[in-house]
Amino acid sequence: MENIVNLCKRRGFIWQGSEIYGGMSGTWDYGPLGTALKRNIMQAWWQYWVEDREDMYGIDAAIIMNPRTWVASGHTATFSDPLVECKFCHNRFRADKLGNFGANVTTEELVTAKVKCPVCGKIDWSEVKQFNMMFETKVGATGNDVAYLRPETAQGIFTNYRNVVDTMYPDLPFGLCQQGKAFRNEISPRDFVFRSREFEQMEIEYFINPKTWEADFEKLLNDCHEFLEQIIGLPKDLIHELDVTEEDRAHYSRRTIDIEFDYPIGREELMGIAYRTDFDLSNIQRESGKNMEYTIKGTTEKFIPHVIEPSFGVERLLMAVLTSAYTEDEIAGEKRTLLKLPEHLAPFRSCVSPLLKNKPELVAKAQEVYQTLRQKYHNVTWDDSGNIGKRYRKQDEIGTPKCIVIDFDTIEDNTVTIRDRDTTKQIRTPISDL
Ligand code: ATP
Repeated sequence: MENIVNLCKRRGFIWQGSEIYGGMSGTWDYGPLGTALKRNIMQAWWQYWVEDREDMYGIDAAIIMNPRTWVASGHTATFSDPLVECKFCHNRFRADKLGNFGANVTTEELVTAKVKCPVCGKIDWSEVKQFNMMFETKVGATGNDVAYLRPETAQGIFTNYRNVVDTMYPDLPFGLCQQGKAFRNEISPRDFVFRSREFEQMEIEYFINPKTWEADFEKLLNDCHEFLEQIIGLPKDLIHELDVTEEDRAHYSRRTIDIEFDYPIGREELMGIAYRTDFDLSNIQRESGKNMEYTIKGTTEKFIPHVIEPSFGVERLLMAVLTSAYTEDEIAGEKRTLLKLPEHLAPFRSCVSPLLKNKPELVAKAQEVYQTLRQKYHNVTWDDSGNIGKRYRKQDEIGTPKCIVIDFDTIEDNTVTIRDRDTTKQIRTPISDL
């Protein structure tokens, strides 16, 4: 993990948020390469779930929502984690993460299990308190109106369900998809971008007839696997399903599966898929007084649709992509580091170089090839720094699948060398075939 964090920092993928002022815990800034990788992941998701399907619609709701949203959804009352303080050193922790405890862990349980403070080693715990994780903000000039930064993107979907039904007339089942920032005042942000206070979600609310929920759930679960394995290219053997027990599920959920991934930090939740019944739309109907029923077309059959929610965290997906792409090997006795990123996710699809920087005819020809490829593929980079070996190492480390080199033969016969990142094999190809 440390090697990956260092690579991300050194090569301009991800930096600590506000690093220049000593950092801001739980926030991360994406550099040019990290931004490209993140956007490619988000675009792959959008294409798979929205653009390539006829039963899904994209939306983009506001981050700051009417506070009644969070009353109706239950977040105001219950969106909390158990907080405990060490009375000796005054550090604060998420109590359930101090061992194998449930969300309702008590001080007595911590003491009985002889849980020591991870910082000072004492056993001197305060009462466990429920700590609400929503970030408060004030809206307007009076400064009296409290609102919240959304802790999930899902509620922006539910609150627009009626608008979509009335404007797009979708057939049931249909899904609404949204990508965007979410904010949680996590007690202990940790493990690089895995648990942050500001992060990005990609969520789907799939509205169904409750009669078919089991089949709909299976189908969406399969789609989640297809997306993770075929589209994102994560290794199948690192992906696991955790069927969440009734005891650990939200009270309204009849089935929840956490999809976990073997990260270098251990097996942890990558995403979740939950059957949420009609909990959310019924709450909104009660709080808003607006009808949330759906009438099956051509009939008088009406009901509040039930919902299956696949919920993805962008950072956790990005961390899975980075950690499974990170490779160390040896080429001709020399250690090298490479990111085996799939071509459609890599920040750059290819890199164009002149063999020698000080030969104007090579540079001119290489520029010609570079500009042509940029027009065609957009995310193509140029590198004429150092010697060719160093350029290859750098491009390997940032995951560029192909390096295209223009040499003296190019001037003669219009062919170039293409060097493959993973095998380091080189082939000669006419420019017209690139
Ligand atoms: P956890 O148990 O790890 O706190 P959660 O069950 O609270 O996660 P959900 O509320 O189901 O998470 O959120 C859906 C998805 O959003 C998660 O599967 C994860 O990918 C992502 N996510 C949630 N919290 C964070 C966070 N603090 N930082 C980064 N991603 C997050």
